[in-house]
Amino acid sequence: MSQQPYSFFHSVERSFDKAAAFTNFDPGILEQIKACNSVYQMRFPVKLDNGNIEVIEAYRVQHSQHKSPCKGGIRFSDEVNQDEVMALASLMTYKCAIVNVPFGGAKGGIKINPRKYSTYELEKITRRYTAELVKKNFIGPGIDVPAPDYGTGEREMSWIVDTYASLKPGEIDAAGCVTGKPITQGGVRGRKEATGLGVFFGIREVCNMADVMEKQGLTIGVEGKTVIVQGLGNVGYHSAKFFREAGAKVVALAEYEGAIYNAHGLNEEEVFQHRKATGSILNFPGATNLAKNTDALELECDILIPAALENVINGENAPRVKAKIIGEAANGPCTPEADEIFIQKGILCVPDMYLNAGGVTVSYFEWLKNLSHVRYGRMEKRFTENMNTTILGQIESLTGKTVNETDRKLIQHGAEEIDLVHSGLEETMIAATREIVHIWKSNPGIPDMRTAAYVSAINKVATSYAELGIFP
Ligand code: NAD
Repeated sequence: MSQQPYSFFHSVERSFDKAAAFTNFDPGILEQIKACNSVYQMRFPVKLDNGNIEVIEAYRVQHSQHKSPCKGGIRFSDEVNQDEVMALASLMTYKCAIVNVPFGGAKGGIKINPRKYSTYELEKITRRYTAELVKKNFIGPGIDVPAPDYGTGEREMSWIVDTYASLKPGEIDAAGCVTGKPITQGGVRGRKEATGLGVFFGIREVCNMADVMEKQGLTIGVEGKTVIVQGLGNVGYHSAKFFREAGAKVVALAEYEGAIYNAHGLNEEEVFQHRKATGSILNFPGATNLAKNTDALELECDILIPAALENVINGENAPRVKAKIIGEAANGPCTPEADEIFIQKGILCVPDMYLNAGGVTVSYFEWLKNLSHVRYGRMEKRFTENMNTTILGQIESLTGKTVNETDRKLIQHGAEEIDLVHSGLEETMIAATREIVHIWKSNPGIPDMRTAAYVSAINKVATSYAELGIFP
């Protein structure tokens, strides 16, 4: 990773300013949108398994409270710092606005390498972090709702909800204090794969736009396209899965220990199992090892999906990127210098702040489920199935024909929670893609899709601030 001349937060501010020039909002409102409303930096002690006491550095940043609650993941990484958390929190504000999720942006981070701690130590750290948030009123279903991010998952979210609920006895909506929980703890079906599926829906929509594909020199549709994914974690794994299932060929996968290539396509689950068994993505049967993990970013392909960390494509390596489309699954994988190079080279970069909004969209569905205390589909599934059976029976008796068993099942099927969540996500990603592309096309001065996405976000957040008025 090359050293950037300015911070991650500053690079978000630069992208914001670039887009703000295409709007007519009061400069004071634009300044307010950019600023982080609250930054909570904390230190707390944890007793390790060996008896030593370690002081842990952690953050929670609430970038914007123009809508309540704030929302954003919690990252466990030894790269965590205040600037990074501030940048990620601000991206959350813009992301929620673009996909019409009524939350302000937030983000949390604990500066640890989770691989260096035992499960028990991680549990203690997570629970203590939650208790610190409770003490400062930085968490709650109507205040700030964390979620998983790099290095965290369902397990950590379970610890958070349990700690919160035990410190707030009787709070009926306690389950809504965090999302990305396991189903048994109030999670929603479809959350785990949501970000990767959202990345797929967003890129598929772009690939279905005839004029956009013509400009990129590509055929319409995802089928047959070559895809490279960096990072085989939650987001990368599921992105690869949905592209492969739609008929695309995942020709290379990169993890931090290296990268592999197979022109005939790789199966992410088989690679995942290989990595689990051998401890490395390398030496996967039938695939070629690449010398460096970053080599995968520079291979010939139609779609490149960076799904690991920020700043991985920058001014240094962007000139060597050969992909026609970059789908930013990770947050901030491409720097502003890389953006400039993509514009010159005609590479279409589909920006992070809406493309990876699947997680927060489904988190929103989970939060709504928690507040309503009922599973999606519970009330209407059986009703729909009975109605469909009656209608089908009537059609069959009126026409004297019968449908085959496969079609019968399809027609009769009443929506389950997973169907509704996937459908809500698909609608959200298609609508956001069309809205951003529309803004881009309507203003020939807008240089790239990222700027168009920022314009979409600024329009919504600034309108909200303007209509809200500033508290005297
Ligand atoms: P994760 O921890 O599940 O996976 C990240 C993977 O990237 C890990 O397998 C890690 O080994 C790998 N990795 C790290 N450095 C690498 C390198 N230099 N080269 C190749 N691989 C490398 O995390 P995740 O939840 O999949 O998040 C990935 C990115 O997506 C982050 O930027 C995160 O902010 C963003 N994101 C996540 C979600 C979500 O719902 N999880 C939502 C929106 C955005």
